[in-house]
Order: sequence, then C-alpha cells, then structure tokens
Amino acid sequence: MAIATADPATGHVEKTFDPMSEQEIDRTLDRAATAFRTYRRTSFADRERWMNAAAELLDARAEHIAAIMTTEMGKTLTSARAEAHKCAAALRYYAAHAEGFLADREADAPAVGARRAFVRYEPLGPVLAVMPWNFPLWQVIRFAAPSLMAGNVGLLKHASNVPQTALLLEELFLGAGFPEGVFQTLLVESSAVDRIVRDPRVRAATLTGSERAGRAVASAAADEVKPTVLELGGSDPFIVMPSADVERAAGVAAVSRCLNNGQSCISAKRFIVAEEVADEFQEAFVAEMSARRVGDPRDPETDVGPLVDEKARAGVEALVADAVEQGATVLCGGERPDGPGWYYPPTVVADVTPDMRMFHEEVFAPVASLFRVADAGAAIDLANATGFGLGSNVWTEDAAERDRFARELEAGQVFVNGMTTSYPELPFGGVKRSGYGRELSDPGIHAFCNAKTVWIG
Ligand code: NAP
Repeated sequence: MAIATADPATGHVEKTFDPMSEQEIDRTLDRAATAFRTYRRTSFADRERWMNAAAELLDARAEHIAAIMTTEMGKTLTSARAEAHKCAAALRYYAAHAEGFLADREADAPAVGARRAFVRYEPLGPVLAVMPWNFPLWQVIRFAAPSLMAGNVGLLKHASNVPQTALLLEELFLGAGFPEGVFQTLLVESSAVDRIVRDPRVRAATLTGSERAGRAVASAAADEVKPTVLELGGSDPFIVMPSADVERAAGVAAVSRCLNNGQSCISAKRFIVAEEVADEFQEAFVAEMSARRVGDPRDPETDVGPLVDEKARAGVEALVADAVEQGATVLCGGERPDGPGWYYPPTVVADVTPDMRMFHEEVFAPVASLFRVADAGAAIDLANATGFGLGSNVWTEDAAERDRFARELEAGQVFVNGMTTSYPELPFGGVKRSGYGRELSDPGIHAFCNAKTVWIG
C-alpha cells in the first residue's frame, strides 16, 4: 500500500510520501539502539517530566492534530479532538503511575535462603509498534506511554494511510524533551516489517490490527524468539436481557455500533436480545440507528463520517449482500449514498444465520447484526460462537445473571450496563483470535519489561 494521505470525505489524494530506503531504516534502528543505552538509565523524574510535557503539547495542539486525523482517516472532528485529549490524559496517567508499577517487588527472602530477594522491572530495548489507522493517535499512545516510561525506546510503523499523524507523533515526543532516538517513526510499507522485526536491534514487537497482519508479525518474532503483544479484531456481543433498561441499552447500542464511523475493534457488532424484550429493543435501536446523521466529518452535527476507503466500503457491501442473498432482512440502511466520499449508512440486519459471512467475520462499518434468543444460556452460547474474544457488553439488572455473564463470556473484557470502552486504568486486550497480551494499566507497562529476579545471599 502506498504511503499517502487520501481524504475519505472526498476520495482526494492530498499528499504522498516516499518510503524510507534501506539505509534510512538502518540509520533509524541504529539511533534507537544508541538512544536506548543512555535512555534506560534516565530517572523516572526525567521521564515523568517529558511525558507530562508531551501531554501539555498534545492538549495545546489538539485542534491541529485532530484536523489531520480527520483528513487522513475520516473520523469526525469532534471525536478526533476527544481522542487527542484522551491521549493526553493517558500520558499523564503513566507519568504519574509508572514508578509505582515498576517498583522492586520484594519476595520472601528466608524462604529462598537469601538475605534479600526481589523482582526488578527492566526495559527490553527498542520495541517495534505496528499500528492501525482507526484510532491513529490512541493506539500509538497506549503503547508509547508505558513503554517510554519503562525505559524502552519506541519505533512506530504506522498504517500507510496515516503518515502525517505518524510524523506528528515523532515530533510530539521530541518536542516534549525526550532524547533523540527515543521515539521514531519508520515511514515504511508493510513489506518492510518482516526484516525490521528480525533485526537484532529490535527486541520486541506489538501489533494492533487484523489477524492477517498479527500472524505475520508474530510468526517472524517467534522465529527470532522475541516477545509480542497482539491486539486484533473483534466481533463483540451486546446482550440485552429482560430486566435491562431497554431504552437506554438501545441508545448505547447505536453509539457503540457507530463509534468511529463503525470502525472500532470494541464496537458492539452482534446484538443478542432476549425474546421478551426483542420487539421493544429492535424498534428503539432501529430508530436510533436511522436517526444518525451521516455526512461531512468536519460538520459538528455529523454523527457518522465516511469509511476509510473504497475497499472498506465495497467489503461491507459484499457482506450485507451475502447475508441478504441467504435470507437476512435489512431493517434500515444498507444502501451506499450517491456522491463523493466513502460513506455507508448505519444499517441493522436481522435473521443472520451461521451460513452467512457476517455471522463469522468482523464487520468494520456501522452495520449491526440483530439476534433473538430464549434465555441467558442461549445468549452466552451465541455470544461465544465466534473466533473472536475482545470485548463484550451485557445489559441486565439481575445480579446472578451479571455474575454468570462475567464468568462465562469468552472475552478480554465484560462491561455491564455501560459501553465497552478503553481506559488507561483498566487492562485491555483479547482472547481467542482477538490476540494476546494486555495494554494499559499495570499489565500494559509490564508487557515489555524484563522481570529480573535478584537474589542476594
Ligand atoms: P491491518 O491491515 O492489519 O493494518 C494494521 C497495521 O499492520 C498497519 O500498520 C499495516 O501496514 C500493518 N500490516 C498489514 N499487513 C502486514 C503484514 N503482512 N506484515 C506486517 N505488517 C502489516 O489492519 P487495519 O485495517 O489497519 O485495522 C483494522 C483492524 O485492526 C481491525 O481488525 C480492528 O478490529 C483491529 N484493531 C484492533 C484493536 C485492538 O485493540 N484489539 C484496536 C484497533 C483496531 P499498512 O497500512 O502499510 O498495510
């Protein structure tokens, strides 16, 4: 894929970039390895100061950065602005908590015949982050904030359609005072990733993106015996039980499905509703989805902007067509609008069966599958009948039912009576084909540390 900015609202290619040459890649990796040697010895106080300065810069430049994100991948300007401020908060969170998360952990010294025994968390070195375009700032920050606070250095291979955001990120960390080489952007195509992962100067890799890309990076890393974190796709269930506040659930359902123009890994995608309240939910949900304003992402009145590119739009059309051919019913949306831009409307599809691609694949667009089930057991079976296991969402006022869902749903997170969201304070990640490892909170900083045992006799 060529490295370029193409505005999804118009289809117009705004700017193209030449990928780095082999020599440039080599120099970048060298700078990272050199920077690590001294950066790893910097104090938490210095890192905290630089991280807080990055947060200040991000807040101050939020308008500019948001405008670039909107131009590169089509999210609404309102949500791009919110993403920038959320990132600033995450930088501050790790600035404040990293030292505590990485404090030496004392062990029972007499039990191991030592005067003192403890675990010390040390950085690994240059970490490669292969990142997606959908939250072009947030995905990077949730890797960079903990990694840099731990003393690692970052190498970013961002998605080819968000090069300007990628360059801004490098500028941000440099401008905040982090030493040169501590956070660098590699403007390269995905074909260059294998060789970078295998380079001995790179010590670990993290990838957020599709299963296909995850497999490629993780296999190369495994071959070189390097650790990886994989944050892959999802097809989150959204379960509504009879005791739920159905009206509120329907409102949140539409917000979740249309989040980021339908292109979020933890958007609810499969709506599983108890038969008793299914008519009420369907009516309210279809009304909410139909009421969403689709249009120019720069207009503050817009709820849903365009999809990222024509390939994505053609892909979702094919999924809907496949379902309809096999008997599914489109309750709203389902038709691309005329005119420029890669728009696709909020769509609800009922009567989806396991024969349809939509049942099994991740739908990366504002398209919901709606199912009816007899009871909690059937809801859990259907929710788990997917290869994915990222987030999940349950609506019920019944305490026993809440416990059961929390225990039995195969997912990295279960949110009850509220929208599934990522917070710096809570670990984030998946099971099954949604990946492994955790970002955010304390597991997010331990992911790329050497938990070194020190025994003193
Ligand atoms: P993608 O095509 O997998 O791209 C992600 C990144 O991987 C890009 O930087 C891409 O570079 C690179 N890449 C692609 N193929 C590669 C290969 N064979 N070897 C090495 N690198 C490769 O995914 P996307 O379409 O940008 O993002 C959407 C996916 O990300 C969805 O499945 C979504 O659910 C998932 N996602 C997951 C999370 C999570 O936290 N679990 C969060 C956000 C998104 P190029 O752009 O140059 O191809």
